Amino acid sequence: MNRDWINQAIAKIEADYVRSADTHLIVLPLACYPNIDIYLKDESTHPTGSLKHRLARSLFLYALCNGWINQDTVIIESSSGSTAVSEAYFARMLGLKFIAVMAKTTAAEKIKQIEFYGGQCHLVDSTNEIYQESRRLAQELGGHYMDQFTYAERATDWRGNNNIAKSMIEQMQKERFPEPSWFVMSPGTGGTSATIGRYIRYLGLQSQLMVADPEHSVFYEFYQHGDASITASSGSKIEGIGRPRVEPSFIAGVIDEMHKVPDGQSIAAMQWLNQRLGRKVGPSTGTNLVAVLALAQRMQANGEEGSIVSLICDSGERYLNTYYDPAWLSLHIQSDEVYQAYLNNIR
Ligand SMILES: *Cc1c(COP(=O)(O)O)cnc(C)c1O
Repeated sequence: MNRDWINQAIAKIEADYVRSADTHLIVLPLACYPNIDIYLKDESTHPTGSLKHRLARSLFLYALCNGWINQDTVIIESSSGSTAVSEAYFARMLGLKFIAVMAKTTAAEKIKQIEFYGGQCHLVDSTNEIYQESRRLAQELGGHYMDQFTYAERATDWRGNNNIAKSMIEQMQKERFPEPSWFVMSPGTGGTSATIGRYIRYLGLQSQLMVADPEHSVFYEFYQHGDASITASSGSKIEGIGRPRVEPSFIAGVIDEMHKVPDGQSIAAMQWLNQRLGRKVGPSTGTNLVAVLALAQRMQANGEEGSIVSLICDSGERYLNTYYDPAWLSLHIQSDEVYQAYLNNIR
């Protein structure tokens, strides 16, 4: 084990971090909810375009400090794309070979970006195969399988160290309702929800955590009934979130409530937010927004006031040929017209 190389690798990741700025917390003003303030943490502005930049950094640091990676370790990861883009960035920074194992339906833009950072893409037929194939490749090549779905929750330092929850709470300091009533997040690994849920408990806040699960995902069912062995046969249609098995990083105990979001509503909300913000967001941000708006409506009906904080997980620029292409949408997901009409009345 070459300690000099490991020290240099960690120093490179830390220097990159010091050069980088934090992401913005933006306001989504809605006149129809005068006593409820909505905020979105814009994770699309990381160098690699999504919240997975944080995760990739944490996974590399965790693996390096555990002695799992050295200067000629091939890095392998199973991904729906965003994590692989960010890991490819860090692998290149450290001079390591990187292979992403992904379903062949992964957005072409993400594949291009992984290759841009010098990574290789190894495509399999379905999302269900990515775990097994990653393990097999790691064994065959003597590489290291990062396994975000297992390690996301533990690689992130949930007590602080500038995790996303700490950053959001600090950015809320001068707001009218600085302690959010709700945080809202949709689960892929479940790691971000776990970090937020743990951190609000650690600080002793009253804030609650709402997790929004898309169709074809088992998290909601698991949360309701507790059966960790359930699986789904088809993959989620909302890229980045929803899993066909209960991922080890999904920590149900820190979640206060879950909301099942139909895909057609996620798409309608994504499009609505695109118009409201004047910029494109990814589909999982639409899923978040559906749950945010449901909470705002409920709070208002109950005469409550307060703030709701959620995330822009990634930018829609990655999905110009998919979720932002009407022809693609008409083949894959119908936007929910009834829900669209509901959104059009929200000002
Ligand atoms: C990974 C991801 C999520 C979910 O975040 P987790 O921390 O993995 O639960 C949401 N949206 C996008 C675009 C993602 O890539």
